[in-house]
Amino acid sequence: MMVETHSPEETVALGRRLGALLGAGDVVGLVGDLGAGKTQFTKGIALGLGVPDARIVTSPTFVLMNAYDGRVPLRHYDLYRVEAVDLESLSFFDLRASGATVIEWAEKAGDALGDRLEVRFEVTGETTRRITFKATGVRPEAIMKSLVISH
Ligand code: ADP
Ligand code: MG
Repeated sequence: MMVETHSPEETVALGRRLGALLGAGDVVGLVGDLGAGKTQFTKGIALGLGVPDARIVTSPTFVLMNAYDGRVPLRHYDLYRVEAVDLESLSFFDLRASGATVIEWAEKAGDALGDRLEVRFEVTGETTRRITFKATGVRPEAIMKSLVISH
């Protein structure tokens, strides 16, 4: 599945539709350069998960993980500054089942993330982004199909 957004607001709206579909145990990996829109999209996911203070979602670049209370807890990782990614020490496996997980720079973790919906962001213009979804696993496939239908 591939879409193009034409503003940050459109990217947030797309993230919001995805967030509305997420539940505990779901993992979303975000891939794309700095400024591609990963954090904007995560803001949308937080809104879709009913996080009341979703506007304050920022890249957890220095703390590695931010948690927000939504319909289910949202854990937001950013692996940009992580040299050797050790998901165990980030509590990824301990926390995964009890909430929805979003990971920026997910390619650094690779297949260790397990079943996931991968979202790739490409800068196609000053305010345009090409956003491509790839599902690994049965549940991520179902989420992706629902996302297409809910459009
Ligand atoms: P990342 O987390 O991938 O580094 P951010 O989401 O923090 O990127 O920043 C994306 C930047 O690009 C923001 O400044 C945003 O305003 C801008 N932008 C412009 N057009 C878009 C778009 N279509 N979607 C998302 N962000 C956009
Ligand atoms: Mg970011």
